[in-house]
Amino acid sequence: MIPYGRQNINQADIDAVVDVLQSDFLTQGPVVPAFEKAVANYCGAQHSVAVNSATSALHIACLAIGLGTADVVWTTPTTFVASANCALYCGATVDFVDIDPRTYNLRVERLAAKLAEVEKYGKLPKVVIPVHLAGQSCDMKAIHALSQKYGFKIIEDASHAIGGRYNEEPIGNCRYSDITVFSFHPVKIITTGEGGMALTNDKQFAKRMRLLRSHGITSDAAELQPRSPEELWNYQQIDLGFNYRMTDIHAALGLSQMQRLDEFVIKRHTIAKRYDQMFSSLPVVTPWQHPDSYSSYHLYVIRLKLAEINKTHRQIYEVLRTAGILVNLHYIPVYRQPYYEKMGFSVGYCPEAEQYYSEVISIPIYPGLSEAQQNHVVNVLRKAIIA
Ligand SMILES: *Cc1c(COP(=O)(O)O)cnc(C)c1O
Repeated sequence: MIPYGRQNINQADIDAVVDVLQSDFLTQGPVVPAFEKAVANYCGAQHSVAVNSATSALHIACLAIGLGTADVVWTTPTTFVASANCALYCGATVDFVDIDPRTYNLRVERLAAKLAEVEKYGKLPKVVIPVHLAGQSCDMKAIHALSQKYGFKIIEDASHAIGGRYNEEPIGNCRYSDITVFSFHPVKIITTGEGGMALTNDKQFAKRMRLLRSHGITSDAAELQPRSPEELWNYQQIDLGFNYRMTDIHAALGLSQMQRLDEFVIKRHTIAKRYDQMFSSLPVVTPWQHPDSYSSYHLYVIRLKLAEINKTHRQIYEVLRTAGILVNLHYIPVYRQPYYEKMGFSVGYCPEAEQYYSEVISIPIYPGLSEAQQNHVVNVLRKAIIA
C-alpha cells in the first residue's frame, strides 16, 4: 500500500515525545511555547499561537478578527471544507471565488471582478481566506492590494504550505495578511499528530487568539476585573473561548520535526521533479509552478487529459486504488458538498474548479517515498492510461 501522503518519524522525534512523557507537564508546560517560538522564528512572524488543529486555528482567527453573524467570508472552492466551515462556526455567510486554471489557487482576477460587482449592490467580504493549494502560495501581493482597496482582512490558510516560500520569503511571515494558519496533521509537511498554529504580526489578534484557545480565561493581573478585595481571584473568564490547546506531547513532536522541515521540502522537490520528467510523455498535466513560488509540495496533483485517454476519471482512480496506490482528490469543490448544496449552492457555480475536480488525481508524495515506489506508481498509471 502506498498512501498519497504520510508522516516521517525518526528516533529523535520519539525521544522528544518520551522526554515530555517523563517530565512534570504533559500539557501547559514549556514545550508548547518553545514550539511556537521555533515556528515564528522560522517564518519571521512576531506572534504564534499553537492549537489542537488548523480547523481550531481558523475558527479563532475568524473570531479574533471579529467575524460575526452579519459578515461574509470569501474563499476558494478548491480546498478542504475547514477553510469555509470556520466562517459558519461564527454564524457568518460563505461565498466562493473560482480558481486559476494554472495554479488552482483562488484567481485574483475573479476576486477583483467579484469585489467590483458586489460593491455596487451587495455585501463586501469582511475576511478573504486564500488557500495555498499543494503548498504553492497564492498571489498574496495582489490580494493584499485588493484588501487595502475594499477593506477586508486576510487569513492565509497555509495548511499545506509550511516550508514553502513566496517571493523568496517564508510563507507564514504575514507580510500580506493578518493571520496565517498551518496544519500539523500527519499528511502535512510536519506533524504533531493533530495540531495547528496561527501566526500574526498583530499583538491584539495574538492576545485574543490566546484567550480563545483556553476558554476565554485569563490570569494576567492587568486583565482581571476589579472585585472586592476580600475575595481571592486568581483567574477570570472574560470571553467565551474553547479548549483548543495543544499538549506538550504534541508540541515536542512538532519541535523535533521543525529540525527536518527544510530537508522534507527538498525531498518533496526531488520527488516532484522526477514525476515531472516521468510524465512528460503521458497525457497528463503536471503541476505548474509560478516563478514567485517555492512550493512545499504537500501534494503532487496531476490532471488527466481525458480527451486523449480511453478511460474515465473514475476508472483511472479505481485502477490505482485497486493496485494499492491510495490516490486522492484535492478537492471536490466545497460548495458541491451536500451540506453546502442545502445552503443553495449548485453545480456550475465555479466552472474552473468543477473542470479541475473532474480531471484531478493526487498521487503519492512524501519524504519516505522510494524511487522504486515512485516507479511503481508511474507504471501502474501508465498502464491504466494506455491499456
Ligand atoms: C488539512 C487542512 C485543514 C485542516 O487541518 P486540521 O489540522 O486537520 O484541522 C484546513 N485547510 C486545509 C486547506 C487543509 O488541507
